[in-house]
Amino acid sequence: MRTPIIAGNWKLNTTVGEAVTLTTALKALVAQERGVEIVVAPPFTALAAVSATIAGSNVCLAAQNVYWEESGAFTGEVSSTMLKDLGCEYVIVGHSERRQYFGETNESVNRKAKAALTLGLKPIICVGELLEEREADRTEGVIAAQVAGGIADLSTTDLLSCVIAYEPVWAIGTGRTATPAQAQEVHSIIRSLVALAASDDIADQIRIQYGGSVKPDNAAELLAKQDVDGALVGGASLDAASFAAIVKAAS
Ligand code: PEP
Repeated sequence: MRTPIIAGNWKLNTTVGEAVTLTTALKALVAQERGVEIVVAPPFTALAAVSATIAGSNVCLAAQNVYWEESGAFTGEVSSTMLKDLGCEYVIVGHSERRQYFGETNESVNRKAKAALTLGLKPIICVGELLEEREADRTEGVIAAQVAGGIADLSTTDLLSCVIAYEPVWAIGTGRTATPAQAQEVHSIIRSLVALAASDDIADQIRIQYGGSVKPDNAAELLAKQDVDGALVGGASLDAASFAAIVKAAS
């Protein structure tokens, strides 16, 4: 039985004050939820304040990115140690916006995932095809390369600490959601890829989130699919009531 995981990616949004207000509202709305893991990923600048706000609650903390080195002359970067120090449990790596705008590659995603795991942070490894790749019937090949690259050389134990987020790029922030059948098809491919790379047992246990315009009114049907173990939510996570409704759909 895989515990569903609903994570909110706040992207480049919220001042510290706004982040605390959003977190306080969310915490109250989801306080009674059980059987679902609830994660928020504020911008770096709000991590400390959100960490203090969620202390003792059923909401946990993620960062949106990490660098693989631990310290040194890497201006502007943030390490796993620093994120752990702030109370982060998860870190998102390889989000399509980072691949698209900041040159993230399968190799850098893998280096980040490994560094995070070494320090006890759980990576949420994002994969997803572009619209033109889907239209050219290349979805499976693209996902296979991203999954294989992202989890390369991870131990069995490390793999169990990873979450994979399937986020078709054409569905992110567009209001265009994959149908539950489209999501299930790719999630099942991802699970087979993990089975090939590790074992059936690991593949059965690893959690695979769907992301791409998940909203309160489409969450339940996506989450009902056999291989959909949660959601990575962008836009709707900036509204406490909407995000809480998605959490409830998973619990
Ligand atoms: C995301 O940022 O990971 C995402 C899925 O965004 P949205 O829900 O807004 O499509």
